[in-house]
Amino acid sequence: MALYGAIESGGHKFVCLIAEDKDTILEKKVFLTKKPKETILEVVNFFRQFGNLQSLGIASFGPIDLNQNSQNYGVLTTTPKTLWQGIDLRKEINSRLRIPVYIDTDVNSAALAEHLWGSANDVSNLVYITVGTGIGAGIICNDKLIKGFSHTEFGHIRIPHDLKEDSFLGVCIFHGNCLEGLASAPAINKRCELEEGRIPPPEHQVWSLVAKYLSFAVNNLIFTTAPEKIILGGGVMKNKKLITLIRQNVYDLLNSYVEYDPIKFDLENYIVHPKLGDEAGVLGALAIAMGLNFEINQ
Ligand code: ZN
Repeated sequence: MALYGAIESGGHKFVCLIAEDKDTILEKKVFLTKKPKETILEVVNFFRQFGNLQSLGIASFGPIDLNQNSQNYGVLTTTPKTLWQGIDLRKEINSRLRIPVYIDTDVNSAALAEHLWGSANDVSNLVYITVGTGIGAGIICNDKLIKGFSHTEFGHIRIPHDLKEDSFLGVCIFHGNCLEGLASAPAINKRCELEEGRIPPPEHQVWSLVAKYLSFAVNNLIFTTAPEKIILGGGVMKNKKLITLIRQNVYDLLNSYVEYDPIKFDLENYIVHPKLGDEAGVLGALAIAMGLNFEINQ
């Protein structure tokens, strides 16, 4: 039986697993993200225990250069995690393990896993949005992940920001008040002047503002990509009240314009949480290693 490796690499941790398939996971280990060389060595040593891996998939934080014609294909580019800028995780691991290594973003990978095995396995067009330290969207259209010159950067779209109602200027170091600048976990944290890493309790008034901004984003996705399902994941969405607020706002924003029955009559099953929960990213990496991403062209 072939064995595959999978990594979800994040700013705080690297989740690694070895599996035959989604239901037969042989080993799983989490490593804290340290300096690049140290982290890569720990991860490689973990996978070296198994000498017969067929291939490995990486679901990585970004931005990554995913243009296969680029000299920097697979390289982490303008990440705010400055130690990791310019690191080619795929090549680093490939050169040490000497097996094929494939890479995509964490959010594209999560979208893929939810499409194969999760909340959206009954549709061909879906969007997975993660709202956490950053915001991103994996968009699958006709069973293929949307990519152009590289992956999409949905977190940095502009949304209406009424400074009279909300004077917070946003936290995005590139754009200030883009979607991520206004509604990511660091934005919520800074707006509420909390200790680093904390977000307010579910009853806090800030959540209605967060819901409003995320609803604009969902509204724009519905109008631009016509998804058959929208999945909202990531740490911020663990506030269970948030998804209800978003559904209500989206319904109001659309104002009965869209003729699609799940939106008109069944919003609870249209805007949903990820079925795979926090595992979506690393299982997406496994899917990529197994060649299940419908477009093995890397
Ligand atoms: Zn931005």
